Amino acid sequence: MTGKIAFDPVRLPAEAEALRIEVRDFLRDEIQAGNYRPHVGDGFDRAFSCKVGAKGWIGMTWPKKYGGQQRSHLERYVVTEEFLVAGAPTKAHFTADRQSGPVLLKYASESLKRTILPSITRGECSFAIGMSEPDSGSDLFAAKTRADKCDQGWRINGRKVWTSFAHHADYMIALLRTSDATKENRRHGLTQFLVDMKTPGITVSPIINSAGQHDFNEVIFEDVILSEDRVLGDVDMAWKQATAELAFERSGPERFLENIYVLTELIRVLGPQPDQRGTEGLGRLVAQLHTLRQMSISVAGMLSAGKEPSLEAAVVKDVGTNWEQQLPNCARNLASFVNDDGNNRGRFDELIENATIMAPKYTIQGGTREILRSIIARGLGLR
Ligand SMILES: Cc1cc2nc3c(=O)[nH]c(=O)nc-3n(C[C@H](O)[C@H](O)[C@H](O)COP(=O)(O)OP(=O)(O)OC[C@H]3O[C@@H](n4cnc5c(N)ncnc54)[C@H](O)[C@@H]3O)c2cc1C
Repeated sequence: MTGKIAFDPVRLPAEAEALRIEVRDFLRDEIQAGNYRPHVGDGFDRAFSCKVGAKGWIGMTWPKKYGGQQRSHLERYVVTEEFLVAGAPTKAHFTADRQSGPVLLKYASESLKRTILPSITRGECSFAIGMSEPDSGSDLFAAKTRADKCDQGWRINGRKVWTSFAHHADYMIALLRTSDATKENRRHGLTQFLVDMKTPGITVSPIINSAGQHDFNEVIFEDVILSEDRVLGDVDMAWKQATAELAFERSGPERFLENIYVLTELIRVLGPQPDQRGTEGLGRLVAQLHTLRQMSISVAGMLSAGKEPSLEAAVVKDVGTNWEQQLPNCARNLASFVNDDGNNRGRFDELIENATIMAPKYTIQGGTREILRSIIARGLGLR
């Protein structure tokens, strides 16, 4: 970790902007053909992901020999940004594209990479993240779900919770306890494993979220047997790997664009000539968004340059998720002074209600506000 926060000045290159037009055209055609409705449903659509895969937009930074396109993180940034703004259903490929694929690239055996990575890039293979447990969320290093050595490889017993889309996933990357922590290092003793979700002994049960939807789950492991080649990286040393994985999870534009439809709806409701209050409020929101975007693009640029900007990624997630959490309330306040002259205010109210119900999760998923601030403070040498 660096001793200071340093966002490299990064601009999107011309090829990334050219790609943006291609992505916009694709999304416009998909919407016009009625293939998906923006921001509606649980966002999991395998057929849509296969079309995205055919375009070469999943795993696009990965080597060609594994199905990737060897394009830059900045090009990937543009694709992610356009998909978020267009409310596209990317959940069937997003986790694998963002973080599970990069973990496999770094730590899986050559034969696993050759089999699994191309199927991810085709949009045919979905991943879940098995980190959190009932008594181990922020404190991941307290994980208790065990992987014990046995004749066939490893025997898994325990429970993961809040596992997003485990009910659809083909694989999970699970953080499992392979030995006890040591006195010197309480992070020691955890290992990452690739788990095929069809392995006997795995039970996935729904946990219903605050909006009454099923997107995360409890996953129980009862004497699940995994072969030796399912170990990712070094046994007992996952604390190093999981930290790098979280930098991927925290840095993207999804950390402030998840409810961007609130802003676009606000602009529509305020109309072409908002009053002074509306103009100032909107100007402030757009300026904040622009700053967040520059910071996030900078992180993508640093990833492209081979750096590990964990501290900057934590800043983007903390500032970004707080911004999007406040957005529905801010939009409701600004719109409350606009006369309801029949310009489809019902749609605005419906979207705001949905966004308000979902808002608490932003500062929890991928690391809570308090944990991110601890990381930032440690990175600055303050603790
Ligand atoms: C929508 C959503 C999707 C998720 N998807 C996944 C997933 O796919 N896979 C997965 O593994 N997990 C997932 N999670 C779980 C998420 O990572 C955890 O909820 C999160 O890490 C917090 O853990 P916890 O719920 O156990 O809360 P706790 O860790 O118990 O925290 C409770 C409160 O105490 C605070 N706190 C805890 N420790 C400290 C400390 N040291 N200093 C200061 N304050 C502290 C926290 O900030 C929080 O406010 C998801 C969560 C959500 C909301």
